[in-house]
Amino acid sequence: MENNAHIRFDNISKFYGDVKIIEDLDLNIKKGEFISLLGPSGSGKTTLLMMLAGFESATKGTVWLNDKALNDIPSYKRNIGVVFQNYALFPHMTVAQNIAFPLQMRGVSKAEINEKVEKVLGMVQLAAMKERKPAQLSGGQQQRVALARALVFEPEVILMDEPLGALDKQLREQMQLDIRALHQRLGVTIVFVTHDQEEALTMSDRIAVFNKGNIEQIASPREIYDRPQTKFVAEFIGATNLIEGKITALQADKAQVLLANKQSIWVQAAKDVSVNEDVYVSVRPEKLHLTQQSGAYDNHFPTTIKDIVYLGNHLRVQLDENAHHFIVNQDRKAVEWTKGAAVVAGFNAADCWMIKR
Ligand code: ADP
Ligand code: MG
Repeated sequence: MENNAHIRFDNISKFYGDVKIIEDLDLNIKKGEFISLLGPSGSGKTTLLMMLAGFESATKGTVWLNDKALNDIPSYKRNIGVVFQNYALFPHMTVAQNIAFPLQMRGVSKAEINEKVEKVLGMVQLAAMKERKPAQLSGGQQQRVALARALVFEPEVILMDEPLGALDKQLREQMQLDIRALHQRLGVTIVFVTHDQEEALTMSDRIAVFNKGNIEQIASPREIYDRPQTKFVAEFIGATNLIEGKITALQADKAQVLLANKQSIWVQAAKDVSVNEDVYVSVRPEKLHLTQQSGAYDNHFPTTIKDIVYLGNHLRVQLDENAHHFIVNQDRKAVEWTKGAAVVAGFNAADCWMIKR
């Protein structure tokens, strides 16, 4: 293998009959990285993960682990741990027996099994529950058993397919932090599938954003959020205001963009754009500011407040401006805005992000 990736998907395609699920996909994953595959339901995340786990085979292309092509290596010989969304625990076995199972499969001695099971039970804080059956555990505890079972044989890679999907919000957020801490402690490579963008932003070193079997962008959470490269990524990651326009002038790092309502705005220019080019301008809700008059910002939209939603520490304000239904996040301590009030929405050129159309 010519680069030093830990895992490499090389020109992978997957067809079910005539239906293309994934086409010509390349993805390199570094050793010790926490990478999330993020995308809507049906975008091919599980399919890709199962090819790495060995439960599916690629129609075309090669999956590499270290310098080994995995195509002909059965799943149990891949040294990869898998955690499924539905836990897939054996109901008739105790917690300890469930966790011991992968070691028995690998012919590990009884003494070593006991030692390793005890160690991993401590890691996921389930030592007191080891004699229980899965049905006697809460969802969160069952999930930790599944995690322990994937960790116990000390695999070099752990795959997780929406492992927190069945948990309520509070437990889910706790488990996100627990899994992150475990990753940092063990230094194992983790490939984590989720459709939840907040979860991917919280947990990952890098995120690969999936859309219809393609990777739209792969980058750090911050880069994905601040510099989305496509309309799909801009809309899928967090809320945003996406405005269509055409570049009418370029000046240093700024562009003048003419909008459908004939208004012009100044925005930070993307690299290699030119005059007359059609673009989207993305403005995050927290970058829009409500004021009572024009003047404070580079761009202003006189408008009215259509709706206000209380979200605890801030307000989500919906504005009505010709075709643009802007949303604005507003500090609660700000002026008491009311529905129907006339306001000016202002934003700076530097707080815009430009995407080619
Ligand atoms: P995700 O995990 O992103 O939700 P999947 O990888 O499960 O997406 O599925 C991607 C697409 O492949 C979907 O359209 C799904 O219907 C299809 N698919 C998955 N498994 C099979 C299968 N065994 N046979 C036919 N189509 C499948
Ligand atoms: Mg899936």
